[in-house]
Amino acid sequence: MVIKKIETFILKDKLSKSFFFSQWEYSERCICVVKVTAEDGTYGWGEGYGPAPVLEAGIKLLEPFVVGENPLENEVIWNKMYRKTLDFARRGILVASMSAIDIAIWDLKGKILSLPVSTLLGGAHRNKVQPYATGLYFTDHKNPSRDFEEEARLYISQGFKAMKMKVGLGIKADVENVKKMRSVIGPDIKLMVDSNHAYTLREATELARKIEQYDIGWFEEPLSPEFYEQYSELRQKTTIPISGGECEYLRFGFQQLIKNKSVDIIQPDICASGGLTEAKRISALASANGVDIIPHTWGTSIGIHVALHFISNIESVPGRMYQPDFLMEYDQTENGLREKLTFPSIEMKDGYIAVPDRPGLGIDVDEEVLESFAEKKTKKIII
Ligand code: MG
Repeated sequence: MVIKKIETFILKDKLSKSFFFSQWEYSERCICVVKVTAEDGTYGWGEGYGPAPVLEAGIKLLEPFVVGENPLENEVIWNKMYRKTLDFARRGILVASMSAIDIAIWDLKGKILSLPVSTLLGGAHRNKVQPYATGLYFTDHKNPSRDFEEEARLYISQGFKAMKMKVGLGIKADVENVKKMRSVIGPDIKLMVDSNHAYTLREATELARKIEQYDIGWFEEPLSPEFYEQYSELRQKTTIPISGGECEYLRFGFQQLIKNKSVDIIQPDICASGGLTEAKRISALASANGVDIIPHTWGTSIGIHVALHFISNIESVPGRMYQPDFLMEYDQTENGLREKLTFPSIEMKDGYIAVPDRPGLGIDVDEEVLESFAEKKTKKIII
């Protein structure tokens, strides 16, 4: 059995209301998803994280190295894609293109073998994960945190036990917002903060020290991702765990974060950092160095399912009889592609999401919905 064709789709969802964070404003979601089909008609879906048209161009470049290959040999295909692009794209969007194809191949492999991706990864250590709500973005330039309280209360009413808020407006405003959020959600809900690399070391240190008293689960991307040593310095100066890695690629990038003792938690985006094949290796690296791994997750329901299967397979280090819940990032901002693109839909029950035991990622794409979101469809049939 060989791979016969690769199709890409650029999907767009215009938001009813834009939102922003420390770097820029979102007014639409635009995502590249990929379908990889084998010669018997079995297919798998994947998605990449990053600018969709560039991702699509990358997938087209990689296509000849994938078509004609055996979809059960995901590592062999991965290595071909990697070696063919190594000389000019060791990091960045082309790795995200590889990731999208790799994920579709895992889905396809699971469907060929009638096994869930979690089983292919080596098995599910847990059959449910605890999603944390990613939201609390800024909505109004005059009063950026205007909707925070209402939104936080909504998450609690939906059963979330953890949520992540944006910081990065400036230290004074951030401290006020964090203080307010802690008082709104009470002491029992986990609260994390994310500045999307908005601060210098001096600023991040000041902010961390001022919000330590509010029991912060982690401070995500406090500094620019290039400053590995400054991350390490910041860790020495605060009791808040430091996380990062959503701008990092491949095991080699994560080795930099780990070698420099930059973070307590690495956050690879599986749809960008090398796909499931590479995420498994990054996970081994984290485990060998005693660093936690909680993937960055964004995009459509395909990406959410990738994270569900992957997190179910992460080994607990250290092991103990009563294991802590494993967290999964679950974006709650407006996104029709997350809500409508695949079926069955994602269901959160009592604050947990079950890991599907259906073949592959355990979902299928509703092709009518796909067409309705598709900006353009690029179809290329090989052979
Ligand atoms: Mg983040």
